[in-house]
Amino acid sequence: MAVIRDVMPAFELFQPSSVADAQTLLEQYGPDAWVLAGGLDSFDWLKDRIKKPKAVVDLSGIEELKGVRPSSEGIEIGALTTLTEIVNDPIVKEKYSLLAQASEAVASPQIRNQGTLGGNVTQDTRCWYYRAGWPCYRAGGNICYADTPVSRNREHAILYADRCVAVNPSDSAPALIALDAKFVIRTSKGDEVVDAQDYFIGPDIDITRMHILRPGHLLAAIRIPSTWAGTQFYFEKVRDRNVWDFPLLNVASAMVVSGGVIERIRIAVNAAAARPLRLTAVEKAVVGQPPSAATGEMAGKLAVRGAVALQFNAYKIPLMSNLVKRAIGGVEEAKWT
Ligand SMILES: Cc1cc2nc3c(=O)[nH]c(=O)nc-3n(C[C@H](O)[C@H](O)[C@H](O)COP(=O)(O)OP(=O)(O)OC[C@H]3O[C@@H](n4cnc5c(N)ncnc54)[C@H](O)[C@@H]3O)c2cc1C
Ligand code: SF4
Repeated sequence: MAVIRDVMPAFELFQPSSVADAQTLLEQYGPDAWVLAGGLDSFDWLKDRIKKPKAVVDLSGIEELKGVRPSSEGIEIGALTTLTEIVNDPIVKEKYSLLAQASEAVASPQIRNQGTLGGNVTQDTRCWYYRAGWPCYRAGGNICYADTPVSRNREHAILYADRCVAVNPSDSAPALIALDAKFVIRTSKGDEVVDAQDYFIGPDIDITRMHILRPGHLLAAIRIPSTWAGTQFYFEKVRDRNVWDFPLLNVASAMVVSGGVIERIRIAVNAAAARPLRLTAVEKAVVGQPPSAATGEMAGKLAVRGAVALQFNAYKIPLMSNLVKRAIGGVEEAKWT
């Protein structure tokens, strides 16, 4: 169990000014290093004394990791760009407003001023038990405290659970998947570029991580191609409070409608599973259909096929179904009738 004290465990603090120096440090310390971005997730772990790295590599002095830049294919966003900067960026607002909307739905203004895009997609789950230091599967133990008849599991998973029923809490992640973003990971062997949906992993792959980063790796940037720029976007987040609260569920979609039917679409949800889910079966089923309430209804039912409720989160199944329905049929009501 976590014992909250007012002094963090000692660690060596490094404040490199280049990605190359940061990467060298991360390589040198391997699993004993902790990457520090905005600190909103990091400091909870450190102050609660649950994670005790030997070295903390603070990225805040690395200018090359900051800002939104136009590129030949679209835009590139440095991993250390804050959510507020993304919300206010003119190119993001004009062409990729889905990401601006999703970023603006995060927490509160203060958190968006400090929280970075890289940290938002790399943050850990908010499962109460795990965050409090209980020795569950995800923490290396052999039990899930959230999956019992009396557990507090209202926020937990309805899809793809495998021993752990925690969810990924990022609001920006489904928007980046819908926009077909690519994540640039700096390693000692050079850059690896992965599709947004492949950055995230579930407990079937590794129960201790929510992303593919290994010790020594750094998320350097996120690239968004122009493929979906300026298309019909839909973002909706459902949460208990309108500010300062993680999603109970969210949905993000990008859609092109031509001749009254859906020509192409990408749609993703988060907080339904341990990784954000791209709904490829839904995408296939709705292409060629009108963006109508009936298509939305069909898509909503398809989206939750295989969903399994825990003791206190059955509401998430109709909620996810309705969010998908609105992402598809709601656009028609707003734009096409
Ligand atoms: C009260 C509260 C409410 C919140 N509500 C929401 C919400 O509603 N929706 C939402 O999406 N988020 C929410 N958040 C999360 C918040 O928005 C931050 O984005 C997130 O916690 C991490 O961003 P950060 O920049 O502070 O990163 P940090 O906390 O510093 O890092 C988070 C994790 O990512 C790793 N990391 C960060 N950057 C990199 C990088 N470039 N390369 C490799 N690893 C990296 C760190 O090692 C750490 O493990 C909330 C946070 C708090 C404290
Ligand atoms: S849901 Fe996952 S993180 Fe939460 S107690 Fe169970 S194993 Fe741990």
